Amino acid sequence: MKTPSKIMTIFYFMLIMLFVIGLSTISTRIWGGKPEQPVKPDTLMIKKDMTIGQFGQVNALSDKVLKDIFDLKAKSDMEKKLDEYGTINEINSRVTERLALASENATKNWIKIPVKFGFWFAFLLMVFILSKKQKITSKIRNRLLFSAVFIFGVIMGSDPGPMGTVKDAIHLYGTAHAIFPPRMIALSIFLILVLLANKYICAWGCQAGTLQDLIFRINRTDMRKAVIGRQIKLPFVLTNTIRFLFLCGFTLAAFFWGTDIIDPIDPFKIFKPMYLGLFGGVFLFILFFAGLFVYRPWCHLFCPFGLVGWFVEKISLVRISVDYHTCIACGKCAAACPSTVMEAILKQDKFVIPDCFACYTCREVCPTDSIQFSRRKRILPPLDHFNTIKKGLEKGNTNLQNTKKGV
Ligand code: SF4
Ligand code: SF4
Repeated sequence: MKTPSKIMTIFYFMLIMLFVIGLSTISTRIWGGKPEQPVKPDTLMIKKDMTIGQFGQVNALSDKVLKDIFDLKAKSDMEKKLDEYGTINEINSRVTERLALASENATKNWIKIPVKFGFWFAFLLMVFILSKKQKITSKIRNRLLFSAVFIFGVIMGSDPGPMGTVKDAIHLYGTAHAIFPPRMIALSIFLILVLLANKYICAWGCQAGTLQDLIFRINRTDMRKAVIGRQIKLPFVLTNTIRFLFLCGFTLAAFFWGTDIIDPIDPFKIFKPMYLGLFGGVFLFILFFAGLFVYRPWCHLFCPFGLVGWFVEKISLVRISVDYHTCIACGKCAAACPSTVMEAILKQDKFVIPDCFACYTCREVCPTDSIQFSRRKRILPPLDHFNTIKKGLEKGNTNLQNTKKGV
């Protein structure tokens, strides 16, 4: 296949960005009608000797909301005094929690969400079947990634997405001590998917993840060389430390200052660009542009779901493994892998194996079909194999020049 020029690569990048931003603006308007952010409850005016009716009046709360918060049975219950329901602090947190849950509910489109999950299951199943039939080539991969960006991001919008289930859950609990049950269900589904098949949902379903992946691939030739500059594999210890510290900072900010520090720079907002500020817009442009050179920068450096999923993928049922009986230690897989995962797998670095996005690049270039995405256990390589592999890793880049299959 002809290698695209540097100018064409930049052109494709700009085209993808304009395509996503332009069409997402239209689709967000079509879905519209829901508030973007849960409305934060104002500071409540509470006095112990108020009746519930008076409390509702001064805080502009409807009878329906009051009925729900205080479990009122009859109209006459409006005359009950607030102090029957606990101390001022208890009433304050009860009302804050219920209002936060109600406003979360108001942001959700309950038709779109189940439809999106339906599409996710169907799409992931289709990719899995294609992978079983060894059909995922570079061309097919790019088409699948583009389809995922289009369906799950451009058409279906930024919400729901895997990252929001962790980020918003922490933020809601930190600010209102509330847990939104539908979000917990969504998070459980995503984690079950990770338990079943590694980071399949991130690899092929997450709208922000697939967009970064697609951008990275357009800057790669068939020989896994960058068209523009160099594609760098950042050390996992560094990226994971940053990701962990970022999550700690995010959690502290939510619990102590009630702020969502991800919100202004949330990469999912690329699918609802009208809610991006100038700072967020510039940040996201830099982030996605950096994605030409670093594989999935947001996933590796900042994403809370990325970190949680990384822990869970340690025990996932189906994952990438190598059969050392047939492996010839050529190192092509490690060189072709967009991050340092395959290198860590070959070295059996059990505890610090980075996020594997089940992209199948390694499997595609293996000349002896020794790599599988299956329930097969990752076993230790034979004693002398490691040294051979080490040599193979060093010559891996050279070997890739001779590989028959393109990535
Ligand atoms: S790690 Fe990446 S792919 Fe996974 S949820 Fe986060 S942004 Fe999406
Ligand atoms: S190339 Fe292989 S090891 Fe690397 S991320 Fe893709 S599937 Fe995982």
